[in-house]
Amino acid sequence: MLTNNSAKFDKLREEGYRITPQRKQLLEFFYELPEGEHLSAEELHNKLTEKEIKISLATLYRSLKFLVKKGFIRELDFGEDHKHYELSSPKKQHHHLLCNTCGLTIEFKDKNLYGYAVKIAKEQNNFEIKDYQFKIFGICKNCQKES
Ligand SMILES: [Zn+2]
Ligand SMILES: [Zn+2]
Repeated sequence: MLTNNSAKFDKLREEGYRITPQRKQLLEFFYELPEGEHLSAEELHNKLTEKEIKISLATLYRSLKFLVKKGFIRELDFGEDHKHYELSSPKKQHHHLLCNTCGLTIEFKDKNLYGYAVKIAKEQNNFEIKDYQFKIFGICKNCQKES
C-alpha cells in the first residue's frame, strides 16, 4: 500500500505538484484509520492535533480537496451539513447505509452495483467513472426497537 503511494507521489511530483510534509502526513493518517471510519474535516483536525500533527483547519481543507481531486481519498456526502472523508480504493469500492436517527454508518459491497455504474456511465453516456457512491438512508435495527 505504502509503496503504491510513493509511486503515486512520484508521479504527482513529476507533474509539478508539491507534496508537502503535511499532505504526506495526512495521507499516512488515513492509511492508519480503521476501515469504516468516516471523519469530517473537524473530526480529522481534532485527531491530527491529538497526534501532534500541526495543521490549520484552512490548510487541512485545502489538502483534503487536493487529495480528493487526485483520487487518494474519497469525499462522502451523507446529507449532513459537512462532508466525510475516507481512503479511496476503487478496486474494493464499498457503499453505505446511514441511520437518520443515530448516525450509524454500515458499509456494504455489492458487485452488481458496479455493473450498473458501468452501464449507465460508460455504455449510455460515454462517461469515465472516477468514483460512484450508493447510499441508503433509513432507520437502523436498534433505533427501530427504541421507537
Ligand atoms: Zn465507507
Ligand atoms: Zn440508528
